[in-house]
Amino acid sequence: MRIILLGTGTPNPSLKRMSSGYLVETEQDILLFDHGPGAFHRLMESGIDPVRITYLFFSHLHYDHCLDYARLVLTRWEQGAGKIPELKVYGPSYVETMTTGLFGEGGVFDPDLTARTQLEPSIQTYISRGGTPPRKRPMPQVEAIQDGYVVEEKKWRVEVIEVPHGQPHLESFGFRLDTPEGSFAYSGDAGYSEAFVRLIQGCDVLVHMCHYISGTEPGPEWIKGSAGHMEAARIAHEGKARNLVISHIPDQMDLPGVRERLISEMSQIFKGNIFWGEDLIEIPVTDPQPLKHTG
Ligand SMILES: [Zn+2]
Repeated sequence: MRIILLGTGTPNPSLKRMSSGYLVETEQDILLFDHGPGAFHRLMESGIDPVRITYLFFSHLHYDHCLDYARLVLTRWEQGAGKIPELKVYGPSYVETMTTGLFGEGGVFDPDLTARTQLEPSIQTYISRGGTPPRKRPMPQVEAIQDGYVVEEKKWRVEVIEVPHGQPHLESFGFRLDTPEGSFAYSGDAGYSEAFVRLIQGCDVLVHMCHYISGTEPGPEWIKGSAGHMEAARIAHEGKARNLVISHIPDQMDLPGVRERLISEMSQIFKGNIFWGEDLIEIPVTDPQPLKHTG
């Protein structure tokens, strides 16, 4: 099991931190959780071929969590040449509308998809990649999820829970993935909820969003729908996580010295391992180990 952070930033444009995206490679499949702007670029930098991605989970549809969806789908389709299965996508019900709006007849990419499936040079390219005409359009297999939804495959299982963030305009979810090799939980964007704490009990890795230094939030409504560093620490503590990964990191706290102070404050509450998320780092499901001293 490999867990790679593809995007640890916010909607703010940043070359250091792309927007939200996380990759989990299991024995059976490669799963993505969210795919915000820049996450696809990091996916390529990770060395993992996009055609190998089989499942995508959306926590919610703020654009910093889904803007690279089209790029993933179209690249898989183009490079996969009809030889790979359609991407399986789980997310809020509006993902169905988004998907047909992007890839369906009359959708955003209709002229391109019509050209690539009808014009002879494009069909020849398709054949050169191993495809067999007629060429079909991409159409991800989308399933709408709700609170309590479970996706069960042979060697992994994902449980979904609704989390407080952006309601009533958004449906927002957190996830727990269990595999024989370890467990992974992801908050999506969310404030504290007892239900999420119950879901993540004893997980190996918890990726939790962090959107401000606790105590500096502009108003009380912020705490309901997103977490500061101390809320993330409390959730990891009550959820008995082994490793806490802080992600969705705003500029406010992403400074040398400030970062270390915040980790120190979090460690007063949460006694497990704390990772300050960085794009492209890999998170172990066991305890991190220092390298042998070589002088
Ligand atoms: Zn959000």
